[in-house]
Amino acid sequence: MKISVIGCGYLGAVHAACMAKLGHDVVGVDVDERKIAELSAAKAPFYEPGLEELLRDVQETGRLKFTTDVSAVAGSAVHFICVGTPQKIGENGADLTYVDAAMRTLTPHVLPGDIVVGKSTVPVGTAARLAAVLEKNQPSAHLVWNPEFLREGHAVADTLQPDRFVYGVLGGSEDHIAVRVLDEVYEAPLSSGTSRIVTDHPTAELVKTAANSFLATKISFINAMAELCDAAGADVTQLADAIGMDDRIGRKFLNAGIGFGGGCLPKDIRAFMARAGELGADQALTFLREVDAINMRRRTRVVELTRDLCGGSLLGKKITVLGAAFKPESDDVRDSPALSIAAQLQLQGAVVTVTDPKALTNAARRFPELHYEADCNSAIKSADALLLLTEWHQYRDLDPYEVAGVVASARILDGRNVLDPAKWRAAGWIYRGLGRP
Ligand code: NAD
Repeated sequence: MKISVIGCGYLGAVHAACMAKLGHDVVGVDVDERKIAELSAAKAPFYEPGLEELLRDVQETGRLKFTTDVSAVAGSAVHFICVGTPQKIGENGADLTYVDAAMRTLTPHVLPGDIVVGKSTVPVGTAARLAAVLEKNQPSAHLVWNPEFLREGHAVADTLQPDRFVYGVLGGSEDHIAVRVLDEVYEAPLSSGTSRIVTDHPTAELVKTAANSFLATKISFINAMAELCDAAGADVTQLADAIGMDDRIGRKFLNAGIGFGGGCLPKDIRAFMARAGELGADQALTFLREVDAINMRRRTRVVELTRDLCGGSLLGKKITVLGAAFKPESDDVRDSPALSIAAQLQLQGAVVTVTDPKALTNAARRFPELHYEADCNSAIKSADALLLLTEWHQYRDLDPYEVAGVVASARILDGRNVLDPAKWRAAGWIYRGLGRP
């Protein structure tokens, strides 16, 4: 099928490449000329495992093109909207400027019978509004909301083989013509067993924000338990193992640490609260305020623990932060808790060096005042304390005996609870985890 993808960021670039991999003829459109130049040269504009290989692989087939010229979408039967929906500046709500602009530039090129598919995460009610815009311009085109659940770091596999598809169509009926078209787009994953749910527009929009709210709540729940474990001298990792054995609870997303960040969970729960307020249902989501507060408290807690670890004062202390990305296997630093902690430590007088295998360029753009060092060994040299804040395997696998010979002072704060405390202590380290005695 002929497919267009509007917005080629973390979501859209992967989606475009994967749709071409599934055999479709794809054109990716973005307003960012640098991104388009890189994608056209089969270079990934950000780090995502497997993406660059995939881009090279599919571009050789001639089935994948990128352009800044939106008129190139003409002739595609399906148009995916994958532009950003960041948090509004100074407000909790989502900024829909990009979605509206994408729709405005796209509609003149939409032909009768085309399907416009929203994948961006949007406040409930957006699809109905956009469907009206589309209908005014092209009455025989259809709007589907098809939220995306990919995880950065696993985006290629998650797109080629997702765990479910949700199609939100007008009226929510299986018989809607757009269902057949999308089934054709996703024929390969559907035929290998991916489930799909057909529903109406508002339910499809809510599925995504509800899923992210649940995940955020699970993380903040275990982090609240970590606070209690700290107060009571208990071990949150054992607590998580034990409660996680109950399959109604499950062990995933129960790792206490410095909390969640990135370009999705924080802004999505805030936008959800804002939208609930607009709908007069704000009470239903007041718990998310607490989820957010617990999450942000983790960052201050780590600063305080680091001060303790350094003997009561941060002034002049050389601190090395291992990890800048919001999660491993990504270079995404949007609302990264690691960087936010690094910046707070620096503000309080510490001399902070940040290292990361992939995210330093993005980190330096966001926090130019921090010092960055790409080489891990140079970064940890003469440090008074190490903070493991993003659990890249390089840092999980550090040898405590070797590292002890490089730092000035063998103190480590394990912000992700991924190191073996006994091993590090045996090598002479003062080890601090979060919610661990
Ligand atoms: P991003 O910032 O990486 O990418 C957005 C892209 O859209 C940018 O390249 C930008 O230049 C482009 N753009 C903006 N306006 C445009 C326009 N009018 N025409 C064409 N291109 C335009 O953001 P992202 O992380 O890819 O997220 C996109 C959406 O997907 C968001 O709503 C996000 O919440 C959702 N989402 C993201 C993920 C993820 O893991 N990143 C997962 C699921 C859902």
